[in-house]
Amino acid sequence: MKSQDIASRWLEFFAQKDHTVVPSASLVSPDPSLLFTIAGMVPFIPYFLGEEAPPYQRAVSVQKCIRTADIEEVGKTVRHGTFFQMCGNFSFGDYFKERAIPMAWELLTSTQEQGGYGLDPERIWVTVYEEDDEAERIWREDVGFPAERIQRLGKEDNYWHTGQPGPGGPDSEIFYDRGPEYGREGGPSADENRYMEIWNLVFMQYQLSEVNSQTDFTVAGELAHKNIDTGLGLERLAMILQGVENMYETDQVRPVLDRAAQLAGRQYSSTEDPADPKYADDVRLRMVADHVRSALMLITDGVVPGNEGGGYVLRRLIRRAVRAMRLMGVTEPVLPELLPASRDAMKGTYPQVGQDFERIARVAYNEEKAFLRTIAAGTARMDAAVKAAKSAAQTGATGISGADAFELHDTYGFPIDLTLEMAQEAGVDVDEAGFRALMTEQRTRARQDAKSKKSGHVDSSAYRALQGSGDTVFTGYTEHTTASRIRGLLSEGQQVGLATAGQEVELVLDATPFYAEAGGQAADTGYITGDGFVVEVLDVQAPVKGLSVHRVRVTEGEVPAGVEAVGTIDLQRRLDAQKAHTGTHLVHAALHQILGPEATQSGSFNKEGYLRFDFRWGEAMSEMARSEVEDVSNLAIRDNHPVLTREMSLDEARGLGAMSLFGEKYGDRVRVVEVNGAWSRELCGGTHVGATAEIGSLALLGEQSVGSGNRRVEALVGLDAFRHLATERTLVNELTGLLKVPADQVRDRVAGTLARLKEVEKELAALRAAQLQAEAGRLVQAAVEVSGAQAVVRLLAHDAGPVGSGDELRSLVLDLRSRLENTAGNAAGTPAVVAMAGTAKGRPLVVIGTNQAAREAGLKAGALVKTACGVLGGGGGGKDDLAQGGGQDASRIGAALAAVRDAVGAGVGAAAGAAGA
Ligand code: ATP
Ligand code: MG
Repeated sequence: MKSQDIASRWLEFFAQKDHTVVPSASLVSPDPSLLFTIAGMVPFIPYFLGEEAPPYQRAVSVQKCIRTADIEEVGKTVRHGTFFQMCGNFSFGDYFKERAIPMAWELLTSTQEQGGYGLDPERIWVTVYEEDDEAERIWREDVGFPAERIQRLGKEDNYWHTGQPGPGGPDSEIFYDRGPEYGREGGPSADENRYMEIWNLVFMQYQLSEVNSQTDFTVAGELAHKNIDTGLGLERLAMILQGVENMYETDQVRPVLDRAAQLAGRQYSSTEDPADPKYADDVRLRMVADHVRSALMLITDGVVPGNEGGGYVLRRLIRRAVRAMRLMGVTEPVLPELLPASRDAMKGTYPQVGQDFERIARVAYNEEKAFLRTIAAGTARMDAAVKAAKSAAQTGATGISGADAFELHDTYGFPIDLTLEMAQEAGVDVDEAGFRALMTEQRTRARQDAKSKKSGHVDSSAYRALQGSGDTVFTGYTEHTTASRIRGLLSEGQQVGLATAGQEVELVLDATPFYAEAGGQAADTGYITGDGFVVEVLDVQAPVKGLSVHRVRVTEGEVPAGVEAVGTIDLQRRLDAQKAHTGTHLVHAALHQILGPEATQSGSFNKEGYLRFDFRWGEAMSEMARSEVEDVSNLAIRDNHPVLTREMSLDEARGLGAMSLFGEKYGDRVRVVEVNGAWSRELCGGTHVGATAEIGSLALLGEQSVGSGNRRVEALVGLDAFRHLATERTLVNELTGLLKVPADQVRDRVAGTLARLKEVEKELAALRAAQLQAEAGRLVQAAVEVSGAQAVVRLLAHDAGPVGSGDELRSLVLDLRSRLENTAGNAAGTPAVVAMAGTAKGRPLVVIGTNQAAREAGLKAGALVKTACGVLGGGGGGKDDLAQGGGQDASRIGAALAAVRDAVGAGVGAAAGAAGA
């Protein structure tokens, strides 16, 4: 039975039993506390929590799900996908266990001719919660299910709750025995690979008060309205009904796997045995098939690759798939081959995948290209890290440092597994623990930032309670000051009745003119006043959708909850912010005109006078393109286009081609902001100027990369733009004064001066070298004889003072070494050692050369340099005849040269004190 038939049979079966068929919601969860829809019940959460009245009492759905928590299992177990479809039936205060269990049984075991799935009843096992006698009784007596295939398990396995006070209850899970060749006898409690969970029936029966963990909670009482929430994994049932080994071999996934195997030149062998030599590639192929499908479905639902949240999950899925293919030797782009295979397998159920494929493919292929570029760019840095690791190995250090691995990750987007694998190929280790420590540090930092920004705590129940009396009314599109009522005050996440002067609390109004940070626009600030109190508004956020929460400091008096209050925003700041926001739309439209529609928005932020706009683009913008974008924006400002906002349905807006931020959640009714009609048309809830000329002017500050495949432009608007240009004009004026040329010649003059400076530096270096050579003749005279038991050595140890570079010292040493050999009275074959020290940029350097006779006497330049550098607090090395090094402490140069002399003396067996005689 095909996956699509499984889905339609499901819907039909429950529709016949009076369930309302509800289409799958988006993968992007409507619940702000969840990144993605992870189960069929997610769209119904407000009904289960009693926050909204359900429009029906029974519902049935086949819901698209993403579970990132299962990503590591993919391909290794037979039953975990990152994307899968969950079939569910739901009762909101209607039927309970007594109907849910028998219906499940009927659907699973009635024959396919009768409309069921026709599973063999003998292969089914079930579990119930250990205290749920009622469920067990229904299975045994009402269904006639054999007692020996029912297992009772504890809270760990068979209890459901949200982790917060609210509804909860026992569940009953249904398993399918895949057969003795897949594992041990003994039912699901013995082996969950052989006995595979297919369906979970959750009975929401109780109100839980305290919830400390999965197993530690308090049952406060029975729910007045008991609910049913069930979930069956469509792919798991498909693998049974299609007689294949795992979910990746089912009809909606297998075509991708086959295409991947073909590209990689591998024979897929379907093994689950880690000891099998084909296992590693089989896992990779299964993973590729899963990840490509998940990426396809995520992009379809509007997610775009990025560095945080859902965008990061998508990026990770694509990268893992591309990496897995590379590990099988495919270095060409793979998505252009694999994505269409996945599209063809999925579009029957999800027509949008086919209709929207051009956009989906563009997003996916660009991301893959960006990743391939990342690999190419990072490879040079990786090679440098490997080289550093290898040379450090001489001094006993091990492998690539945690800091290097972190930089590769952070700057080059190299996932750690890529670093590990490439390091292994190069034969060096990686300090993984060091890397992880740096990652944790970074994450903690990010979390603290996010926390302090959004709100002091993550538990949203206090906010939800305040939202009970409805969403905040936002009056700020038309009003700057609004009289309303203080609905509640929160301190540390708890409702309080009163706030006093000096206190910082959160304040919720019934209606507010304050814009809560959203859609990239910064929050308003201002004041809220009432009878005997004044509070300053520092920030406004919407921690749960529809509820504006003002973070305020009480500056005067006492503020009781429930009283009348008047909110007044800082108007100038708002006016400047909306110039920036409309300016952002202009820049967006201009980028589309200049670069093309592929330059899609990936983020934005604007506040008074300033805006930044991030977009997907693979390369730096040319100077020309930048000034064109600036010009197009300013022309639109000059033309004083009207800026109009309209409300309409999401479909209508899409039909009009309104640009929206993919990945953003939109309701059914959306707000569309238009500049000059269709010239710029975006979904946007922000505040804007009435007509573009209000913006005044717009100055682009520059353009830079923010992560792979993402660029950022920044700009100033209004008075800030003017001031920025004025500052630049002042700078030019100062330069014309300094250079004594008119403004239009400043550029040439500076370029000429720089070129001349380079020349002069070259000349200077040549002069200094000549001077040193001249000095060499005098220096030779300063050589001393160090005599020992084995030889007499001519040693020249000298501090040359400040030098241009090590190169300078090196040529001096070579020159002096040959002069020393050739000096009269120094018969050829006399051992000679030259040790020259100096400082470059304040740091000590030392270069040592030995002639052949000295080397024969056992004096090696490399060893001598190590001695000197030890004293200087550094390191160095080289060959036996010439070596170089450096250190930290230039004041120890004298001591370092003395140490060289001692070492030469010791090397030729001189008695202590004979050196330098
Ligand atoms: P498992 O223990 O096998 O991971 P689960 O307890 O996480 O399953 P539930 O959260 O109860 O599963 O989800 C309900 C049903 O959804 C499961 O019975 C299963 O059929 C299906 N399901 C859950 N996770 C996945 C997944 N990652 N891929 C495919 N199907 C899944
Ligand atoms: Mg699971």
